[in-house]
Amino acid sequence: MTYLQSEFQVIQRYFNQNKDCSTSINQGIIKGIGDDAAVINVSEQSKLVVSMDTLISGVHFPEITEAFDIGYKALAVNLSDLAAMGASPSWFTLALTLPDTNSAWLNDFSRGLFELAEHYKIALVGGDTTKGPLSITIQIAGYVSEDTIMYRSGAQIDDDIYVTGYLGDAGAGLSLINNSLINNNVNRDTVNLSDAAQHYLVSRLNRPSPRVSVGELIREFSTACIDISDGLMADLNHITDLSHCGALINVENLPISNELSQTKFDDSNIELALNSGDDYELCFCASDKFKNTIKKISDNLDVPITKIGKIVQENSIQCYLNNNIYEPKNTGYEHFKP
Ligand code: ADP
Ligand code: MG
Repeated sequence: MTYLQSEFQVIQRYFNQNKDCSTSINQGIIKGIGDDAAVINVSEQSKLVVSMDTLISGVHFPEITEAFDIGYKALAVNLSDLAAMGASPSWFTLALTLPDTNSAWLNDFSRGLFELAEHYKIALVGGDTTKGPLSITIQIAGYVSEDTIMYRSGAQIDDDIYVTGYLGDAGAGLSLINNSLINNNVNRDTVNLSDAAQHYLVSRLNRPSPRVSVGELIREFSTACIDISDGLMADLNHITDLSHCGALINVENLPISNELSQTKFDDSNIELALNSGDDYELCFCASDKFKNTIKKISDNLDVPITKIGKIVQENSIQCYLNNNIYEPKNTGYEHFKP
């Protein structure tokens, strides 16, 4: 039997079949498979941006995750894909597969979901409910004008590369949960880590902050953007691949939170920042002339935005730590990796 190596091969070989551009354009499809979301032409002024993400129990969140956090995260990861396109979210649908109809669980799940929906003033407009192993799929839609959409494919040589927030926190949060389960709550890596720091790291895993407002402000000038769901290296690689360029990363500039820098994981914090998934921060590219604008956006929104490197011509991503080449030890998350 033959098995493909990754979800990307599956998508590419069996589902990315809209090769006929003229049909796509006639049907109003501006962007199909291959970016954080699809873009559909609905009016002259604004384009419809649509994305879908699924969370499976035990894969996308540990089975012990609180129902509130599952509802919150399911919507947050979808909002993050719209943020990466620069779209303003508008509505969503919810396909829910439940093992049972536990009303306490459903109460908490829906509170988590609607806390975020109300914050962004977006409406749940439909869905589907079925019985089976817990799985949550959300389809989300938003709008943006065509000239400001951020694709993965627009990076230009010499652009600066930025990331929002901090990297590696969610990966550290997952390690904390896994370690405490394996070691019966005696966690050798976190003996010196305060309860507050542990709580912070786990909360970054369970309640990612979708950077919708950042996306709405950088879309005016950013050349390319992606949200970091599978790790910085893996997701930046989508930008460099589709933009036909490479990148230099200054590892010492990666934004690492105080809490993460206090941990003593086997995986160094640099590895977590480069390759752990689930941070849902934005990675975007912009010309050097926008650095002051970016600083103002960061100050106004109170969201760290850090320059981590540059787009270059050579077709690879090269990391440097204090001017020496740094070879990352891990690779990003892939669903079907053997
Ligand atoms: P993201 O991590 O931003 O959600 P993915 O890596 O999951 O994006 O998907 C890459 C691209 O492939 C996206 O454009 C997505 O819409 C598309 N895609 C994923 N699965 C399928 C599928 N089963 N059929 C069609 N398109 C898909
Ligand atoms: Mg994405």
